[in-house]
Amino acid sequence: MAKELLIKNGRIIDPANGIDQVCDLLISDGVIAQIGKIDKKVDNVIDAKDKLVTPGLIDIHVHFREPGDEEEETIASGSAAAVAGGFTSVVCMPNTNPAIDNETSVEYVHRMARQARKTFVYVMGAITKNREGVELAEMGLMNQAGAVGFTDDGAGVQNAAMMLRACKYASMFDVVLSQHCQDDSLAKNGAMNSGYNSTILGLPGIDPLAEEMMLWRDIQLVKKTSVRYHAQHISTTGSIDIIKEAKKQGLNVTCEVTPHHLLLTDDACSEYDTNYKVNPPLRTQKDVDALRKAIKEGVIDALASDHAPHLQSEKELEFLNAPFGIASLECALGLYAKALIETGVIDWPELISLMTKGPAKVIGIDKGSLGIGKQADVTIIDTNAEYSVDPEKFISKSRNCPYAGWILKARPVCTIVGGEIRYSVGN
Ligand SMILES: [Zn+2]
Ligand SMILES: [Zn+2]
Repeated sequence: MAKELLIKNGRIIDPANGIDQVCDLLISDGVIAQIGKIDKKVDNVIDAKDKLVTPGLIDIHVHFREPGDEEEETIASGSAAAVAGGFTSVVCMPNTNPAIDNETSVEYVHRMARQARKTFVYVMGAITKNREGVELAEMGLMNQAGAVGFTDDGAGVQNAAMMLRACKYASMFDVVLSQHCQDDSLAKNGAMNSGYNSTILGLPGIDPLAEEMMLWRDIQLVKKTSVRYHAQHISTTGSIDIIKEAKKQGLNVTCEVTPHHLLLTDDACSEYDTNYKVNPPLRTQKDVDALRKAIKEGVIDALASDHAPHLQSEKELEFLNAPFGIASLECALGLYAKALIETGVIDWPELISLMTKGPAKVIGIDKGSLGIGKQADVTIIDTNAEYSVDPEKFISKSRNCPYAGWILKARPVCTIVGGEIRYSVGN
């Protein structure tokens, strides 16, 4: 007998198939079997009245710290945090210790993820060996092992000739090349956005130009190679202009935005609280407004958390020496809703699109839709939950989160991966 699960009376939003209606969804043997008014008698029924029923959410930018920094996060703990955040697929960054720069490491992450049995975990391999920018990594072998893209995230590829070779190489495999856009000659050892606040605080700044220069350079390389190029966590008004122009020219360029760059400015650094130390840094209100506007205009392809867990002892270092990053996987959905829905920038179908169809397209995976016959990755969302963020309750191993005490409304209540309930509120 088929194993069936019926989700009743939810508002089904499936941007990939243009669906937005209140009805039922039947999962049978791990795949989407039917959408509509369904009166079948099924053993497992979920009442989704007043809830959203969406394709499983996808986060194409997370750091799970394994191998090397398992006290901060493991693939198992990160995977559990992911389903608690409503994510049925995530993409791990390769800046682990050692870096994920060979096929054995890619396979290791896949194996650990299978054992964890929570979310689907994809991997981006490093562009250069040990992310040092000196020698290309074995992209072909990593691609064969299932890597969905390449990046030296945490750093940008500084050498233009090296990046050009990477573009040529990646285009042979039709796999996306992602860049943490940051020109180190401009960023130097900056700790926050360069501007009024960094001057007042006496901290070295990272000029917006550091991001924009590398992005602009990369776009010139994309023109020469037809590679699929993705700009990670863009944060400045200037970057949006560059992306807009590249898209206008028909280039194969995509980009993502994080929750913190949509909600916070460098004013937050005024107390030297290292939970606000991120890279790229928090910018200005003008940049926040420009990013939100870019989302409204459809310039942004995906929302991505850049979930970056760190030990409390490390974050307790002085601002200059503390590591960059925010752990946000478990509250990302609520944060996006706060930044984009509660402010009237976009509506739920657009937001869900940026968390499902959009990211799936960036990395080229057959996910992010509720199409009949597709693997049943489904997230059920309560949009009126009203809860306070409590990092102490995170499933993630880390607590470096500046949103403690924030009141959020949207919350995943059930996360179904491949037809199995892997997370539900109260369980
Ligand atoms: Zn980065
Ligand atoms: Zn990152």
